[in-house]
Amino acid sequence: MVKRIALVGGAGRMGQALAENLNLIDEMVVSALVDPHEPRHLFGATHYAGLDQVDAESIDVVVDFSQPESVVLSAKWCALHHVGLVIGATGLDAAQRATVEGAAASTRVIMASNFSLGAVLSERFAAMAAPYFERVEIVELHHDRKVDAPSGTSIATAERIRAARAAAGRSIPLEPTMRNTIEGARGADAGDGVRIHSVRLPGLVAHQEVLLGGPGEGLTIRHDSYDRVSFVQGVAIAIRNADAAPGFIWGIDDFIT
Ligand code: NAD
Repeated sequence: MVKRIALVGGAGRMGQALAENLNLIDEMVVSALVDPHEPRHLFGATHYAGLDQVDAESIDVVVDFSQPESVVLSAKWCALHHVGLVIGATGLDAAQRATVEGAAASTRVIMASNFSLGAVLSERFAAMAAPYFERVEIVELHHDRKVDAPSGTSIATAERIRAARAAAGRSIPLEPTMRNTIEGARGADAGDGVRIHSVRLPGLVAHQEVLLGGPGEGLTIRHDSYDRVSFVQGVAIAIRNADAAPGFIWGIDDFIT
C-alpha cells in the first residue's frame, strides 16, 4: 500500500530534499508540504500553511523537519488523528520532548537526531569502542546556518558512549586542563568526561568525528553527510515502521540489523 506523507517544514532545505527523493520510492508519495513559507518546488504535492488545514484522512504519516515549536503541534495533531509521526527536527527542550513522548500514547512516534545510515552505524561503533579507551572526544562539524549547538547527533552519540562506559564500569577520567586561557577551549562537557566540540563553516553539511584515545593508540570514527540525500534512506525506514501500535521509538538503530 502506498504511504501518503505530509512533510512539515516542506519548504525548508531538508523538506525539499525529502519531497524530491521520497517520491522516487515506489510505495511512498509526498502529498502535502506543510510550511508557513511557499515551497520553491511542490514535487506534485499540495502546499498548506499549517497541519490543521490538512485532511487527516488523506495522510498516513507525518514527517517533521521543521523546528521545535511546530514539532509539538505536529505531535498533538498526530495523536488526535492517530497518524504516525517521524521527527527529524532537533533542538527540542525537555518540555517539548515530554509533549512528543506523551503523544506516543496515542500514536507511533519515531524520532532521531540523525537519519543517515552511516551516522547510525558510527554511533553504534562508537558505543562498541568506548569502554576500551580511556578518553573519548567528539568533534561535530556543520554548515554555518545551523541554529543549535552542539548537534543533536553529537548529544545522542555522547549519551550512547556514556551508557556503554557506565555498563562496562569505566570510570570518569580526570580532566587534565588546569587553566583555560580562552574559555571553552576544551569544548562542552557532555558528562563522563566526553567533550563535544562544535565547528560551523560554510560549505559543510553534517560531519562528525569520535576520537578515542588509549595508551599508545588512537581510533577515529568519522562520518560525513555530503548531501541531504544521505538522510532519505533512514527516513524511509522510519516511515515504513511508523504505522504500528502506539509508542515512542528513539532512533532507527533497531530497524537496522
Ligand atoms: P530549514 O530552516 O531550511 O527548514 C525549516 C523549515 O521549517 C522552514 O521552511 C520553516 O519555514 C519551516 N517551519 C517553521 N515553522 C513551521 C511551522 N509552524 N509549521 C511548518 N513548517 C514550519 O532547516 P533544515 O536545514 O531543513 O532543518 C530542519 C530541521 O531538521 C533542523 O532542526 C535540523 O537540525 C534538522 N535535521 C535533522 C536531520 C536528521 O537526520 N534528524 C538531518 C538534517 C536536519
